[in-house]
Amino acid sequence: MREQFTYDAVAGRVVFGAGTARTALADEVARFDAARVLLIASEQEEPLARSLAAPFAERIAATFTAVRPHVPTEVAADARELATAAGADLLLSVGGGSTTGTAKAVALTTGLPIVAVPTTYAGSEVTPVWGMTEGARKTTGVDQRVLPRCVVYDPELTLTLPVDLSMASGLNAMAHCVEAFWAPRRNPISTLMAEEGIRALGRGLPAVLDEPGGADGRADLLYGAYLAGSAFAVAGSGLHHKICHALGGAFDLPHARTHAIVLPHVLAFNAPAAPDAADRIARALGRADAVTGLAELSRRLGIPAGLRELGMLESQVDEATDLVAPTVPADNPRRVDRPALRALIHAAWAGSPPG
Ligand code: NAD
Repeated sequence: MREQFTYDAVAGRVVFGAGTARTALADEVARFDAARVLLIASEQEEPLARSLAAPFAERIAATFTAVRPHVPTEVAADARELATAAGADLLLSVGGGSTTGTAKAVALTTGLPIVAVPTTYAGSEVTPVWGMTEGARKTTGVDQRVLPRCVVYDPELTLTLPVDLSMASGLNAMAHCVEAFWAPRRNPISTLMAEEGIRALGRGLPAVLDEPGGADGRADLLYGAYLAGSAFAVAGSGLHHKICHALGGAFDLPHARTHAIVLPHVLAFNAPAAPDAADRIARALGRADAVTGLAELSRRLGIPAGLRELGMLESQVDEATDLVAPTVPADNPRRVDRPALRALIHAAWAGSPPG
């Protein structure tokens, strides 16, 4: 029997395709009837942003380029001030998650609509989640005002993204997709997006590693990143993200590689209680078994087997267990008691075969 579900659809228009940032962006901006656009791009992406905006240069009222990672509050304040001074009626962001995040910070207080043109695989452009940092403290929140009203996905813009960054944000997207199968607000629609996201990322990651300038691999990765962000926005984060968040925060481990190492272990742990998820993930990866399929993909991408290779000490496994235990989601498919959690983290630390 079909289970009951609730699906909070994330609204927003999406235009996807190679070359669309040059052929469709002007029309998308025109749909907002905006006369005074605030263009937001980091210094590095400014030339790209300017060339994309050239066909409607008369509508660009100001440009903000002081983008910094994780949106420091003073950067948000400066960007808001510029939006007000310029009398902006639309925000156009061209860049990665840090740039989208800066536009979101402005939208949060001004309510201005955002048109986002992502150039990485972060996925922030399809979530209503904002984040800002004050010193080392990060604050996040959910507000529909920050969700971009239109996203233009053009894989050509990602051709210049270095391979290591591409692998890192692509693997992060993979973690969003896999986790969406058991995250707290999962439903058949987010699962559908996650499964197709895994399929696209599973194809795109090795293809981009082998041929960073290949159009098909880049399109697969960007499409997968879009689906991953969409699934994550709906389903939320579960056991895997709780573990990675704690490990990253406490031991300063690199984000993407930590995700890639831990993910097959969480999947192996949950799979017996979520056989449908395991079947669908395996199918999407084109493998007989989801856990070995994911582990092999990580190996192929050069991800180390265990957290020990990232510098985590065995003596920190207990500390990690203590940090994660109180945050474990109550509705994880399989009950996570302390010994099981410790065994999972220890296996990820040692790099033993998952399961
Ligand atoms: P980023 O935006 O900081 O970009 C990383 C680097 O890549 C920068 O130096 C940038 O100039 C460069 N770059 C971007 N596009 C490029 C391209 N096409 N070619 C060459 N270089 C390029 O990093 P990110 O990974 O995109 O985003 C990370 C940030 O996004 C974090 O702050 C994270 O918390 C946030 N994020 C938020 C959400 C959300 O839902 N709110 C989701 C995912 C990530």
